[in-house]
Amino acid sequence: MGSDFRYIDENLKQIQYNISEAAAKYRSPEDRIRLMAVTKTVSYEAVNHAVSLGVELLGENRVQEYQSKKDFYSKSAEVHFIGHLQTNKVKYIINTVSMIQSVGSVKLASEINRLAEANGRIMDVLCEVNIGGEESKSGISPVELYELLERASEMKNIRVCGLMTIPPPVESDIYLGRMQELFCGVRAKNIGGIEMNELSMGMTHDYAAAVKYGSTLVRIGTGLFGARNYNK
Ligand SMILES: *Cc1c(COP(=O)(O)O)cnc(C)c1O
Repeated sequence: MGSDFRYIDENLKQIQYNISEAAAKYRSPEDRIRLMAVTKTVSYEAVNHAVSLGVELLGENRVQEYQSKKDFYSKSAEVHFIGHLQTNKVKYIINTVSMIQSVGSVKLASEINRLAEANGRIMDVLCEVNIGGEESKSGISPVELYELLERASEMKNIRVCGLMTIPPPVESDIYLGRMQELFCGVRAKNIGGIEMNELSMGMTHDYAAAVKYGSTLVRIGTGLFGARNYNK
């Protein structure tokens, strides 16, 4: 049945080409840029096909959808949670994902820390920044970010690894540039107890630009799997 998914092979080749082209132009040869396949609404068969082509990282948005698909995913895939997460849902993912990228409040960080401790693990997290200051988006404002980082640095069972963002969908690169500045600014402060190695930025419409602005991890759904059908 693999041939049903041939469009994924083509899409993946194109994406990998675009990433390497942008990286060759704007980045150092030793920079690692990871590609995440964002799986919302996508069948586990299609997801597994992408994994069979070498995509090693999956991004999950919805707890319930992830619960229904996770047992069918290839065991080799690594899963990060990237969607809006209510504190009362952390318990469903604490033992099955390797990173939570969408931490935008002290309250959520505390709950992840509490459950990670209860489960005897350390959870890697990214702080999600609302770089465009959009009402409709979750994530912490750049101004409040430092307090979140300070508080999170004291939590023993979470490890802050970097930042994540969903910039406003504008033509210009202005928010990508601001995010890179913020990321470099935080990293330069060398806050004890946190790491600043991961900048998760770039989706289907802006991943090549995001690579230019220092992204270490691009999250692609539509560009890999095609337009989402929410009515399935
Ligand atoms: C859906 C989603 C993506 C992927 O978006 P596409 O435009 O389909 O590539 C990336 N990040 C997050 C947090 C998402 O929810």
